[in-house]
Amino acid sequence: DLELDVERVRADFPPLGEEVRPGVPLRYFDSAATALKPRSVIEAVRACMAEYPANVHRGLHVLSERATEAFENARIKVARHLGVDDPAQVIFTRGTTEAINLAARSWGRHAFRPGDAIVLSELEHHANIVPWQMIARETGAELRYVELTDDLEYDLDSFDRLFDDGRVRMVATTGMSNVTGIRPPVEEIARRARERGARVLIDAAQSLAHERLDVVALDVDFAAFSAHKVFGPTGVGVLYGKREHLEAMEPVLGGGNMVLRVERETAVWNELPDKFEAGTPPIAEVIGLGAAIDYLEALDAEAVARHERALIDHAHEVLGAVEGLRILGPAATAGKGPIVGFTLDGTHPHDLSHLLDRSGIAIRAGHHCAMPLHTRLGIPASARASFALYNTADEIDQLAAALGSIKSLLRRR
Ligand code: PMP
Repeated sequence: DLELDVERVRADFPPLGEEVRPGVPLRYFDSAATALKPRSVIEAVRACMAEYPANVHRGLHVLSERATEAFENARIKVARHLGVDDPAQVIFTRGTTEAINLAARSWGRHAFRPGDAIVLSELEHHANIVPWQMIARETGAELRYVELTDDLEYDLDSFDRLFDDGRVRMVATTGMSNVTGIRPPVEEIARRARERGARVLIDAAQSLAHERLDVVALDVDFAAFSAHKVFGPTGVGVLYGKREHLEAMEPVLGGGNMVLRVERETAVWNELPDKFEAGTPPIAEVIGLGAAIDYLEALDAEAVARHERALIDHAHEVLGAVEGLRILGPAATAGKGPIVGFTLDGTHPHDLSHLLDRSGIAIRAGHHCAMPLHTRLGIPASARASFALYNTADEIDQLAAALGSIKSLLRRR
């Protein structure tokens, strides 16, 4: 039952020791947009670029062999982290967005018939909406939305009603809302979907930095995440898929590496995972992702979870006490990830983030690529403070104090 040594963790992340402007230290509350990178990830990327900046798979020289080994090792690490035995089921993409597009387009194209239904929720990020809209339009399938409860929780009764006509073929859900931190009951969703013959995709973009995802234990068909939100580099992410689906799917990108044989008119696809990895991949970034997975696994997951739980509890307490501040979603933090979406009376979220930035405080403002959720809330935009293992309660107090003084500044005007 050891506590997380937050000071040691903070020392791993260079920007946390820096000043954003002279005399102004960084307070980073934007990890849901992208997480900071630990030194081990930075070093892995540097080592690849400096010491073995060769292409993978094709070369028969020593640098290429080293690059290939590190690259494929990263795939093995990701597979193991997701509870998957076969690394060929881990497809590297540019990120969550490309991963969901690949699943929607390639799996959807042969799976959906006119009148079939795709179930999404009002919580989803645009990356888990628009690809489904596109394939629905192409195949004649339709979208159905799980409504949220008054507390903005995922409503399983609403979910159940969408299956009445037996047409649901796919359920795609986020593992954690990037606006409110709410975690849909993915185990129950996956179980109920499976019972009714529907496939399941988990958008783990937000959840994976905070909780383990075992895709085999959950028995989901697809899962997607981005390296940059789990302390890795930008430009790379993962689509996990069950082998039966990946085998049946047609590649979306054609080119080098994804083929075994090319003739003038035809080509024979390569084996998994290469079939879906046309062209030169983001090699250093994939290797950096491998280092990020190592970083995550070296942590005491229980201690991190306790620390993040304490952060979200504290944030609700002190931010909730700021006059005129409204936290989006349930007041209770049980079952929530470390994300606080909020509005502050009389301020626009964008102005708020600019004012906070003067004190070195980084938050995010806007619709957070979740416009249907904001429509449901009846607001065009919101502010968001998101936390990771390197944040402290003290920093959150500073955020609350800064919000309080902005509020009184505006009142005086
Ligand atoms: N899904 C969710 C829940 C997200 O928060 C994000 C990133 N904001 C994405 C998908 C898209 O991830 P990326 O931009 O890395 O492709």
